[in-house]
Parts: sequence; structure tokens; C-alpha cells
Amino acid sequence: MNCNMDTSDVFDQMPLISPTISPSKALSADGLESHHLSRTQLPETLPVVQCVARARIPTTQGPEIFLHLYSNNVDNKEHLAIVFGEDIRSKSLFKKRPGESQQDRMTRGAYVGKLYPGRKLADRDDNLGLELRFDDQGNVLTETNLNEPTLVRIHSECYTGETAWSARCDCGEQFDEAGRLMGENGHGCIVYLRQEGRGIGLGEKLKAYNLQDLGADTVQANLMLRHPADKRSFSLATAILLDLGLLEITLLTNNPDKIIAVEGKNRMVKVVSRVPMIPLAWQQNGAGIKSKEVEGYLRTKVEKMGHLLSRPSSDK
Ligand SMILES: [Zn+2]
Repeated sequence: MNCNMDTSDVFDQMPLISPTISPSKALSADGLESHHLSRTQLPETLPVVQCVARARIPTTQGPEIFLHLYSNNVDNKEHLAIVFGEDIRSKSLFKKRPGESQQDRMTRGAYVGKLYPGRKLADRDDNLGLELRFDDQGNVLTETNLNEPTLVRIHSECYTGETAWSARCDCGEQFDEAGRLMGENGHGCIVYLRQEGRGIGLGEKLKAYNLQDLGADTVQANLMLRHPADKRSFSLATAILLDLGLLEITLLTNNPDKIIAVEGKNRMVKVVSRVPMIPLAWQQNGAGIKSKEVEGYLRTKVEKMGHLLSRPSSDK
């Protein structure tokens, strides 16, 4: 712990590298978070989202998923929803469009049941005996079997942790664990937001890693680059959950701010319970990421970002 304090002193004297943005007001001068997110800080209106396409993906892990790709009116990134359960339906995807054929609907993924060679109708699956109903405006009258709050994870893209085998964070592990729980449950949704590096982008994240190797923690490194400790926004996730009709959810998270953020200003989505994401390396079975970097990353989440996570005392 002593070396931590020495590090802070050193980094206070070092210049800030990027001149663009001042540090977040949520952080006091010593870099410690002074308060949690309040609902009044959230935007009044949600982004407008549109599910552009959906496809069935058989997975190496067993369960099939339906990958939903979204466009929106605030950025030009391709945000995604990974949906477990055929009967969770996107309103914007399934809404009938003027002049489109049944083939058009199957092509963009607005079909019920499962596609098979030679299928002619999107709105009816004769093999499974399923048929969609619509109102006068062409809105699907969704029939879901959701009799309990749906498991939801809001996951921000992490190229390094998910693709480049990084042991600096536990994003890949959390993603896998969320998918495993949803596959077991049969229903669930991972909203996958393209906000790499807590929203600062991959290039800036790589610079932050270098500063961490020079002794900063994850929060200090972001502040030195003149980025907020956490620049992410979750209102796109709220809009996507509403589009999928997931109004009551069980959120997989350790982050109390995320619960408030995803519910939105007017609590359009309700988080009725929370499932903590305990790092596998802290559990009994000896699995999970082991590196000094991930230990520091998790410690900073708990000590500076208020995450609801406590390491088992036997392990200290
Ligand atoms: Zn990560």
C-alpha cells in the first residue's frame, strides 16, 4: 500500500498529456470518487435506436444466440444485443415496413422460429407451429414466456480483454460468465456497447496502459490523459432494452452507477435485482485470470470507483 501512495505523489507532479478534456467533476483532487451517480444527472430523453438486422448464431459453448445489430441517432457505431431466447423480439426489427416481402423480412431477421431451406413465410414457422400476430400499424404483438425478470449484462467493448488475451482486466471473463448464466437460464441479453476503454477509445487506452506500467492506477492514468475516469454512457443500453421489451431485469454487475444509469431518468427499465460478478480468480476452484495487473485493476474498481465487490477475507 505504501508504494501506492508514493506512486500518487509522483503522478501528481507529472504533466497531463492530452490537452482536450478536463478531469471529471465526479473525482476530487486526490483522485478519489466523491459521490455516486445521481438520477438527476441522467439525460431526459433516450437515444432513438433501430434494430437493423438479427441472425441466429450457434455457439461453441452450446446455446444458440440471436445477434441483433442496432443503429442509433447519437453515434455511427454498431451497438449490439446478444439475445438468449427466440421469443425476445425487437419492436423496431419486427415492425412491418411498407412494401417489404416475406423474403425481405427473413433476410433482415424479422422471422419467427427458425429458418430452413425453402421457407417462404417470415411471420409463420410451419415446422414449429409458430405464427406472429400484428396490430393495424404493423407492430408485432409479442408473445414472450418471460415470467421472471430477464438476466441482463451491459458490456462495454474491450478489444484487449476479449480478443487479445489481455490479463490487464477481467472483461473477457465477465463476458463469458454472463453468457454461461444466460445459456443456463434460457433467457437473457448482453447489450454490447462499442465504448472501448471506458469510452476513451482503443488508442487512448493503450496510452493509459503505458502510464499504468509507469506506476499509475487505472483511474490516475485516465486523468493524466485528461479523460474522465469513466466516460461511458448507458442510455443506448436503456433504449435497446426498451426496444426488446425487457422492462424488468436482473442486472449482472458490481457497478452501482450502472444500475442507476441503465434504469434511465424516469426508470423506464427497472432493475429488480442484481447478480454480482465475482472474479473467477477469487473463487474456490482456482480458475480465472491471474496477473498483478488484473489485481490492481480490480482493487481500483473497489477503492476508487465504488464497485460492490469484496475479496474473500481468507484470500487477503
Ligand atoms: Zn477490459
